[in-house]
Amino acid sequence: ETLDKGLEKSSRSFFDKIGRAIAGKSKVDDEVLDNLEEVLISSDVGIETTLKIIKKIEERVARDKFMNTSELDQILKEEIMNLLAENKSSDSEFEIPQDKKPYVIMVVGVNGVGKTTTIGKLAYQFKQQGKKVILGASDTFRAAAVDQLVIWSERVGVPIIKQSMGSDPASVAFDTVQSAQAQGADVVLIDTAGRLHNKVNLMNELSKIKRVMQKVIPDAPHEILLVLDGSTGQNAFEQAKQFTTATDVSALAVTKLDGTAKGGVVIGISDQFKIPVKYIGVGEKMVDLQPFNKYEFVDSFFK
Ligand code: GDP
Repeated sequence: ETLDKGLEKSSRSFFDKIGRAIAGKSKVDDEVLDNLEEVLISSDVGIETTLKIIKKIEERVARDKFMNTSELDQILKEEIMNLLAENKSSDSEFEIPQDKKPYVIMVVGVNGVGKTTTIGKLAYQFKQQGKKVILGASDTFRAAAVDQLVIWSERVGVPIIKQSMGSDPASVAFDTVQSAQAQGADVVLIDTAGRLHNKVNLMNELSKIKRVMQKVIPDAPHEILLVLDGSTGQNAFEQAKQFTTATDVSALAVTKLDGTAKGGVVIGISDQFKIPVKYIGVGEKMVDLQPFNKYEFVDSFFK
């Protein structure tokens, strides 16, 4: 229910647009396909992924010789689902293996995308599952970032490791994993600075954090979660490109889908970067983070 509500804007807009794309037409022809292409692009699915979907539908029309516009919803749904399945966009949240304790999740992304909020929401979910969670405030460049994370740690009721502003992010990460290990914590969530002005700096900073954590836990981080703001369309694609070249992103969280009518960005990003979308943010509250489920997600667009 939260999901449907969170994606309400996207689904209503998508549904209306599809309706207009086929208005007065009974057969899927070139004009309908052109309209459909526009619908997908204007929903931020992205050009490449849109063309891929249109091509699949064209192939089906060519094969079956004829397609009714009334079938288009169902066929589009199938093709989008196939794309998400092809790219392993997961139907599950992070699984915390018993034999990797603590499980270290490093969270990356540009400032303002909802990184801190996502960490807070994840901490809440893990805690609800009975797991012992520790936060590491490695975004030491903005005082506000540490303050925000402290607020989340109090709200959720999980400890946080921090140092003074301007201290070495890698040193905070080191302290955090060490403390997590000493306390027998299950999950560590490490916040990082989201400065993208220089790719080499970003790359160096993230690899230093990794290297230093590995002195305590050799295979850490177990996940690198990239947070993207779903309401920023092409910017989100651009950020995904930058971060995936700077580090080994293993999972994506797409936030603020409640505030946009362009939820199609999730489909395009998952397709183009071949990295599973694990979570979607559909609001500002602690409970407003959903494990990404491709069936529910696609369904909500056709309701
Ligand atoms: P950070 O700079 O990346 O750490 O971003 P923050 O976590 O501080 O979030 C920036 C703003 O976005 C805050 O006002 C959050 O409440 C808001 N925000 C984060 N995630 C979501 C979401 O899924 N939906 C909505 N509507 N707002 C969100």
